[in-house]
Amino acid sequence: MMTGNAPRRLSVFGSTGSIGQNTLDVIGQLGGRENYEVSVVTGNENVELLAHQARLAGAKLAVTASDRMYDALKAALSGSDIAVAAGVSGLAEAADIEADWVMAAIVGTAGLAPTLAAARRGATIALANKECLVSAGDLFVDAVRDAGGRLIPVDSEHSAIFQSLDEDQRHAVERIILTASGGPFRTWSRADMANVTAATARAHPNWSMGLKISIGSASMFNKALEMIEAKHLFGVRPDQIEVIVHPQSVVHSMVGYTDGSVIAQLGSPDMRTAIGYALDYPRRPKLDVERLDFAKLSRLDFEAPDEDRFPALRLARTALERGGLQGAIMNAAEEVAFQAFVDERIGFLQMADIAEAIMDRMTGAGGANTMDDVFAADAEARDLAAELVSIKEKAA
Ligand code: NAD
Ligand code: MG
Repeated sequence: MMTGNAPRRLSVFGSTGSIGQNTLDVIGQLGGRENYEVSVVTGNENVELLAHQARLAGAKLAVTASDRMYDALKAALSGSDIAVAAGVSGLAEAADIEADWVMAAIVGTAGLAPTLAAARRGATIALANKECLVSAGDLFVDAVRDAGGRLIPVDSEHSAIFQSLDEDQRHAVERIILTASGGPFRTWSRADMANVTAATARAHPNWSMGLKISIGSASMFNKALEMIEAKHLFGVRPDQIEVIVHPQSVVHSMVGYTDGSVIAQLGSPDMRTAIGYALDYPRRPKLDVERLDFAKLSRLDFEAPDEDRFPALRLARTALERGGLQGAIMNAAEEVAFQAFVDERIGFLQMADIAEAIMDRMTGAGGANTMDDVFAADAEARDLAAELVSIKEKAA
């Protein structure tokens, strides 16, 4: 825990979400305002919670991503001296506020622009929003490095790898082994998965998380995003990235070295450990999370993932092999397909079908040379995916 230093100035993008709320909980555990000065909190529609968080943390600025919620947020913060902003320009304002540390926990591609802006300002980015890296890839990593900032992963798997990586022995890293819980449908057939609803798909066996990542855990699309995230974070080749299903979610991920050693990080399935590690880095904070009881656990299981039942993993390999804008395209198409599934317009298995079809249609999209390339590919993939959703919906 930080003591004897000036408080670390922190912005929490996506404070009202699962990661955002856990972040504020961790800040409370680490001494609150004495050690962490929260400059900015941002959310979307839930302005009551956002206003409550802003007051509690003593933020300078609260931003709702939703333009139409501006008045409601303003009203909820009346009588305070907390500034209020909304929409895309509000998020840009949030990114401009001088904070040393940014928790990037907006869900989806909506997080890319504000996180990138904060990165260009030189902030240290505690990165939960994996979509930034899947879409913008090395452009994002370069932006952070060029501005003199630093990326610290918050995703539990990548935090585990970050903690298990011996920086001085990078040349001796043979492979990165991402663990996956397998989600609620780990043992299900494709026929059984065909008719599930979002309510069933979001019920994760181990982790409590936001809607998108919970559905992504059921389809293993989340793991697909994490494979691409790992490539950009750790600079490994696609063939060095392995996925292993581990239903207990205790081994958070591993690094294999040329001498045959495998170093792993273990813990209870509680995001606050990874969040605390990122916020207090390079120190290890003292956190009130459940301790592992190995006698009680008694066993840890591992099994190979099934890419026929979970084609998202195969799509990630394809995106990694093709490179260029394929990550951005896969991610954008899947975001559209995910929303269509939640809205009960398409079935569970059609999410991967749509992502694959759009990736194949856009193989000629070229390289990701600038952020404009990324935003253009993202927009085109969204349009094509929306069209395909309509076609599939009519055919059903
Ligand atoms: P969530 O849905 O619980 O919260 C998302 C946050 O983003 C909320 O604050 C919401 O208000 C905000 N938001 C939603 N739409 C927005 C928009 N259009 N513009 C701006 N803000 C918007 O999501 P989460 O589960 O906390 O996940 C956040 C990110 O962290 C995701 O990228 C996810 O993949 C990643 N992540 C989450 C977990 C987890 O345990 N929840 C674990 C690892 C990684
Ligand atoms: Mg993860």
